[in-house]
Amino acid sequence: MPSGTSRSIEPPFLPSSPCTSELERQTELAAARQDLYERGALSESEVRAGKRALAAAQKDVEDTRRDMAAADRMMGEARMADVARARPLARGQYEEMAGLVRFAGVAEWSLAVDTPKLQRFFQNAFGRALPISAFGQTALHDRMGFDHRNAVDVALHPDSPEGRALMTFLRTSGIPFIAAWGTVPGQTSGAHIHVGQPSPRFVARR
Ligand SMILES: [Zn+2]
Repeated sequence: MPSGTSRSIEPPFLPSSPCTSELERQTELAAARQDLYERGALSESEVRAGKRALAAAQKDVEDTRRDMAAADRMMGEARMADVARARPLARGQYEEMAGLVRFAGVAEWSLAVDTPKLQRFFQNAFGRALPISAFGQTALHDRMGFDHRNAVDVALHPDSPEGRALMTFLRTSGIPFIAAWGTVPGQTSGAHIHVGQPSPRFVARR
């Protein structure tokens, strides 16, 4: 057995997204350009062009983050639909387990009529607007083949105090909902609260 051989442990390979590295590159370039400008080696218009490139890189990163969060929530929607299909609840049944809370409320839930009630409750309780990430059918739900016409998604972590308060309100109002989230710490996994009946899949069109 060879001993004393020092072997460095490779850090896990963490690819940074192309957009993030482009932003880093543009941030460094902007600092370099500013320096050159102060030394008189670069014109003002060249500095301005650099600032535009930096702003574009920042916007790309923000767009990418938003797209990734939306894709993440869609994965959450798919998981919730799978649970609902595999193990449907009885009318009025409530279920809570690690990473999953759902309620087959029997109230006549209507997206148009009842969403304002949720918004009022949340505004009064927390002093800010209910963070709705999807109201009724969206293009992403279309693409996933989900019937989301009478459902609303709320971008609250179900296990946060705000998420818990909303779910308690829904339950006491008899409004059906489902919330599933990853139980791995630090993993976001598209956690949100889907209010309304679980989304059935549209029949695939041929
Ligand atoms: Zn939903």
